[in-house]
Amino acid sequence: MKRIFLKKNKDRSLRHRHPWVFSGALGNGDEGIEDGEIVAVAAPDGEVLGTGYYNGRSAIAVRMLSFGDVQVTDAHLRGLIGSALQRRRLAGIPAACDAYRLIFSEGDQLPGLIADYYNGHIALQVLTLGMERLKERIVGLLCEETGAASVYERSEHEGRSTEGLTPASGALFGETPELVTIREGNLSFLVDVKRGQKTGFYLDQRENRERVLRLAAGKRVINLCSYTGGFTVAALRGGASEVISVDASADALALARENAALNGFAAGMTCEKADMFDFVRADPLQAGLIIVDPPALAKSRGALDGACRGYKDLNLQVLRRCPPGTLLLTCSCSRFIDMKLFQQILFAACHDAGRNAAIIGKYGHPADHPVSIWCPETEYLKAVLLAVE
Ligand code: SAH
Repeated sequence: MKRIFLKKNKDRSLRHRHPWVFSGALGNGDEGIEDGEIVAVAAPDGEVLGTGYYNGRSAIAVRMLSFGDVQVTDAHLRGLIGSALQRRRLAGIPAACDAYRLIFSEGDQLPGLIADYYNGHIALQVLTLGMERLKERIVGLLCEETGAASVYERSEHEGRSTEGLTPASGALFGETPELVTIREGNLSFLVDVKRGQKTGFYLDQRENRERVLRLAAGKRVINLCSYTGGFTVAALRGGASEVISVDASADALALARENAALNGFAAGMTCEKADMFDFVRADPLQAGLIIVDPPALAKSRGALDGACRGYKDLNLQVLRRCPPGTLLLTCSCSRFIDMKLFQQILFAACHDAGRNAAIIGKYGHPADHPVSIWCPETEYLKAVLLAVE
């Protein structure tokens, strides 16, 4: 294995097991290291601090796969997959549902890899060139460790271009059904693993679905950016009198309808294909519970200002039009907006709307999206529950 050396005094974060080595921290390396190649990363004195994959095109030049003098063998990769499974078992997830995030990239020490398990079928997302080179081995190991019947690739993330990769999707192993049925407690959902958004379903909102189920009894609910009706079905199961699902995607709404029917709630659900910014401006928002879960408005740090304005506007319009006593569950999945900033945005929205509100809950992603203690950058989902007066 070739070696690459850190510059003087640039070894601190690696010694703290942070998995990213920025290009500016790297000094000399052995001749001929290729993009995507696995290399040993050494301190200037030659001490090997860990092993990762290199990509000279990326600002994060090395992403670590092991620390200390540990080779990236199949046994090591199998160990990482086993640890990821164990984390989920400890949290009681596979016992409670048959769909969960199996591998969450840096959160499970497998940077560049997302694997979602949907009732015996895996959807895989590869984000980096280094992980692309490990893909075949990983697919084999994942199948052995989980007994999955199929693996389907959904590597369409825009971030791949900075790695020199083009979008890729298709079968990697076995046959994936057109729709996979998953179960979460007493909710069932159809997941379109091959054509749905991301890998097909927003597993990260599982615990918030449970919250919505508990909050919805007797309420008229507006589910803004409903996608395939995760919150819609939860609200109906919780006894909502009516749920209006709003999304820009007709395909998502069609599947939301099927999901409501699958759970026995064909009645009580209305779909509206609309742009979220238009919808929140149109009418008074007559509801006892409103869920706002837009796509990531800040996809990069550079897009932060515009995204803050977007989140503020969306929440401001909702706050202007919702009746007193509304519960508002408002979310942001932008990694670049942390809870503190999101709360400031909501403060500004309440201020401008002239509405009093209290935060009665703050939530993140569940245990199948673990946050590495060494890499807090893995945290991304924020949900705030507001009681609006
Ligand atoms: N709440 C969903 C996930 C939402 S993902 C769940 O729990 O499953 C974001 C959704 O917003 C997607 O379904 C996407 O189609 C929709 N969307 C994106 N831009 C939109 C816009 N401008 N107006 C309305 N919906 C939009």
